Amino acid sequence: MPVSLPPRARLALGAGRAAAAASRLLRRGRGQVVGGRVMLKVDPALITRLAAGKQLTLVSATNGKSTTTRMIAGALRTKGRVAHNLTGANMGPGVVTALAADRAAGFGAIEVDEAHLPAMAAQTGATQLVLMNLTRDQLDRGSEVKMLSRRWHAMAEQLSDKTIILANADDPLVVWAARPAPSVVWVGCGQWWTDDAALCPECGATLERAADGTGIAPWRCPACGLARPQTAWSITPDATGIVTPDGTTLTPHLKLPGRVNVGNAAIAVAAAAGRGIDPAVALAACEQVEDVDGRYINTTVDGHPVRLLLGKNPASWAEMLRIVGTSGAALVTVLNARGQDGRDPSWIWDVPFEQLAPMPVWVSGERRFDLAVRLDTAGLELRGVTEDPLAGLAGLPAGEAVDIVANYTAFQELRARVVK
Ligand SMILES: [Zn+2]
Repeated sequence: MPVSLPPRARLALGAGRAAAAASRLLRRGRGQVVGGRVMLKVDPALITRLAAGKQLTLVSATNGKSTTTRMIAGALRTKGRVAHNLTGANMGPGVVTALAADRAAGFGAIEVDEAHLPAMAAQTGATQLVLMNLTRDQLDRGSEVKMLSRRWHAMAEQLSDKTIILANADDPLVVWAARPAPSVVWVGCGQWWTDDAALCPECGATLERAADGTGIAPWRCPACGLARPQTAWSITPDATGIVTPDGTTLTPHLKLPGRVNVGNAAIAVAAAAGRGIDPAVALAACEQVEDVDGRYINTTVDGHPVRLLLGKNPASWAEMLRIVGTSGAALVTVLNARGQDGRDPSWIWDVPFEQLAPMPVWVSGERRFDLAVRLDTAGLELRGVTEDPLAGLAGLPAGEAVDIVANYTAFQELRARVVK
């Protein structure tokens, strides 16, 4: 049952709903953020009030938080109703909107922006925090990864033993951040992108890491001894299985591609198990997740099967390149550099495009010439540099499959065009 609310909170809910409805009428979007902002203006304590009595799981990471939150929500739904910020609005207004949308839900699976996690953890009193990875993302506007790690570390120091952290043992920045918490479940989710975690977060020495390519290799600091913790859960070295605490290996058959999603499923299943859900049941729910806000979506454009992939920073592009490098589909890459993307696109020089050479590629987006220079340098064959990302499709044999990797705003525009 939902907790009873004081008059101010009820007023806030009403005002928020009215603002959201007005925003939708004016076609300014889906209304969640506007409605949530109004709610918090009227009652700044509303998040705390609405969170009371719910079993809340907050999920944060640079990459994979929307997907993992969706997996956890699916698993929790096997036990009851779940409040969930489906649209990825992941700061205060989005969180309050999600909690207000289903006040009777006994569970919550809430994605939270990395910088806002400490405040949201304090306000909600969430009993599970899922911490996955911290890598460079939109550096010219976001916080530096080390600063985010320090904020999470300070949060963990304040937690009581009522809150359990589930943390990725393969990201040194996450391990260092989570370690002060009284209760941590370590999950080997894998970390293949290690460029942002070369140095020890504790003392600054260069970390030693076995370069076996598995993503779950042990790492340690030779100076202070910080090291990959013993894991309760882990993916297998080939990233095709999830090993549970009793040693059973589950084999995921995910609809989502790539090894990162096996890692996402591993920590989602671990979180669900913490709520008393059988791992096999939780995994079955994770397997049903198909697309996340249009990411990974399969559609058809002019008779070509098209898959849309989001590559928003070096780590996520690196994973997408692995997926497209083995798919056999024609590749279109799209780069913008607007505010939401980060205005400085120089990070594309950190993406290991060389691994795709000499694959043919079509290049598009507002910063297509920057990207074309990068891909040409990497040894890919430029088939076309076009303003319209879909222009190259006309020259392909009928029915040939196409993968499109685009960064944030380019992805959103494409999704609006190709997803009916
Ligand atoms: Zn160290």
